[in-house]
Amino acid sequence: MNYRKEFIVEPGKKVHLDKIDPSYTDKHESHETALPKIQEHLARMDKLQYLLYADGDQSLLVVLQALDAAGKDGVVRHLFSGINPQGISVFSFKQPSKAEAAHDFLWRTHQCAPAKGEIVIFNRSHYEDVLVVRVHKLAEKAVWSKRYDLINDFEKMLTSNGTRILKFLLHISPEEQLARFKQRLDDPTKNWKITDADYTERELWPEYIDAYEDALELTSTPHAPWYIIPANHKWFRDLAISEIIADTLDEMGLKLPPTHVNMEEIFIKYHAAEQKQADEKNG
Ligand code: AMP
Ligand code: MG
Repeated sequence: MNYRKEFIVEPGKKVHLDKIDPSYTDKHESHETALPKIQEHLARMDKLQYLLYADGDQSLLVVLQALDAAGKDGVVRHLFSGINPQGISVFSFKQPSKAEAAHDFLWRTHQCAPAKGEIVIFNRSHYEDVLVVRVHKLAEKAVWSKRYDLINDFEKMLTSNGTRILKFLLHISPEEQLARFKQRLDDPTKNWKITDADYTERELWPEYIDAYEDALELTSTPHAPWYIIPANHKWFRDLAISEIIADTLDEMGLKLPPTHVNMEEIFIKYHAAEQKQADEKNG
């Protein structure tokens, strides 16, 4: 299946999240049947990350957004742990610090944008400034409503500097969220994740859906598309996202750079070193 085509938000198209089934799994029945595909995607991502780094001319930015317990941390853990840590960074954006709040809303994310050759993952992002900020009225409408255009311009600028941008909304149902909250209660190793905010934010579900639908419609662009990922089943979420990332990297035309030495001369030097080592060993 081509999940890039299936889950992309067409630029400018109105989004109705209630029409998208969060439990969708395509033709796959279980984690077991999806696993070989996930592993194939992860192997491709690993190879292509090496090429991205070697090529050194482009970069990849992956944005993860979702309501609580939808699996942003799980995506980071499952999909990126096989990649060379030297080529990848993850940034989590929480409530702004004093310094962050004293700057423009794109300041903190811009600093974390990938350098050439790198993959960067944003666990939450500049989109919080049109989501939580809007839902909790942390800024006036006159302020946050201008941010969609500002975000599009910002992302366009990153793209023109060689960054590919993929944005994923992990789409879960309220029922699945509550089931995951229950797991956090039942599993002592997950108790630490529970916050009061989980439950107050849950009360604002409809407001968040409205804010997400507007953000998706207004900021899915040809250069930085949004994908809505059915995420009630963790394994399907991983399958779809890994395919979209691997296919995107594949398409970036990454290649090994030419050697910047004269290979014939280097062979001569190598053989001389080899000979010298042998001579020294033999006394
Ligand atoms: P978590 O990702 O669960 O650790 O929670 C981080 C919290 O920080 C979430 O409740 C976010 O909504 C909140 N947050 C992130 N960015 C912003 C922002 N720009 N303004 C206000 N709250 C934010
Ligand atoms: Mg949370």
